[in-house]
Amino acid sequence: MAVIYDRVALIGLGLIASSMFWAMKRAGVAGEVAGYARSAETRDTARRIGLCDVVCDSAADAVAGADLVVLCVPVGAMDRVAREIAPALKPGAVLSDVGSVKRAVIEAVGPHVPEGVHFIAAHPLAGTEQSGPEAGFAELFDNRWCLLTPEGADEGETARLRRFWEALGSKVDEMDPDHHDLVLAVTSHTPHLIAYTMVGVADDLGRVTDSEVVNFSAAGFRDFTRIAASDPTMWRDVFLTNKDATLEILGRFTEELFALQRAIRQGDGEHLHAYFTRTRAIRRGIIEAGQDTDVPNFGRNPEKS
Ligand code: NAP
Repeated sequence: MAVIYDRVALIGLGLIASSMFWAMKRAGVAGEVAGYARSAETRDTARRIGLCDVVCDSAADAVAGADLVVLCVPVGAMDRVAREIAPALKPGAVLSDVGSVKRAVIEAVGPHVPEGVHFIAAHPLAGTEQSGPEAGFAELFDNRWCLLTPEGADEGETARLRRFWEALGSKVDEMDPDHHDLVLAVTSHTPHLIAYTMVGVADDLGRVTDSEVVNFSAAGFRDFTRIAASDPTMWRDVFLTNKDATLEILGRFTEELFALQRAIRQGDGEHLHAYFTRTRAIRRGIIEAGQDTDVPNFGRNPEKS
């Protein structure tokens, strides 16, 4: 595949940045990739495992001369990082990010973007519960969506960024940032909060029944524990910066939960059955859209899962 950007800079070298690097290498779409992380430990690890063609000791060095700069740090750190790199950005460069919340990132980064630099916010909907420079892999974005929220950015540069993400394996769409935040509150942010809560509840219960929670944990609960193992900093920032949409969805969730609670109390089997039939149809829609597998237990070996 042809090179799309001659020089790319990744700021922050965790799961997403390292996956981007390996996917860029697989696709051959970047001439040279420079990387920077704030801690010497992460930079050393990156050098040891060959993550990035060059690992710089300052963010300014990494972005100097870059045609595409991608901020791959937690949402709450975007403001400070953008301020730090702004003076070193090349005129005509594209500045982007991978943050899980879009309106807050646009508000944090936008004011620092120098004249002549194209800021196009983005969010790859792909991840795992792992983090750090060694967590990445080239296939992470394959067949997953990457949402761009360009809000009036240069159309040619937006199209180029779209081609870049497609080359990394993603399906790409454009969205209004506020709509993005509401959609993600439903599909990702609130489900994570529910998983954190459920594991917290089981932990409290664990004090009573101790090893039972672990020993007899069925696949449903194990999936919650996997989600609840996600990076605490990243998820703290998601909830602090996508407050309104998350609270809106949590309000609706609570109402539905109360309705189900009442149905259980009143023995209203009809209500429960109708509700579960509706949700089962949604799951089938996800499978039909190719967004998940219908293999039992997600293809896991029940003995080992
Ligand atoms: P990660 O593996 O935890 O890596 C985070 C990177 O950011 C590390 O290099 C870390 O540096 C750096 N960093 C952390 N706090 C910082 C701060 N205050 N100032 C400067 N640098 C800081 O995170 P990730 O999963 O790749 O997530 C990165 C971004 O992608 C986040 O905005 C997240 O919302 C978004 N995202 C994540 C997922 C997911 O599932 N993980 C999916 C889509 C999008 P050190 O290593 O030196 O500490």
